[in-house]
Amino acid sequence: MKHKMVNLCPTSFELAGKKPNFSKWVREQLLKDQKLEERTYEYECESCSGITTSKKKRRVMLNDCCNVLSRICGVME
Ligand SMILES: [Zn+2]
Repeated sequence: MKHKMVNLCPTSFELAGKKPNFSKWVREQLLKDQKLEERTYEYECESCSGITTSKKKRRVMLNDCCNVLSRICGVME
């Protein structure tokens, strides 16, 4: 394991103290965050049913094909 210093304000310091294993918790948060960033969301075009993919999660998205809004229809991991 490697070490990394973190700066905490009085409030976050207090909250960190309440975690039984702060290091483990930080590792888990970082890994969870990375997983979210790796996700690709799929949007289905209402016009031609073509799929547009994006790293951004939105309810609707302007697609590449017909320039109309597409609804989110899935997530690729
Ligand atoms: Zn289309």
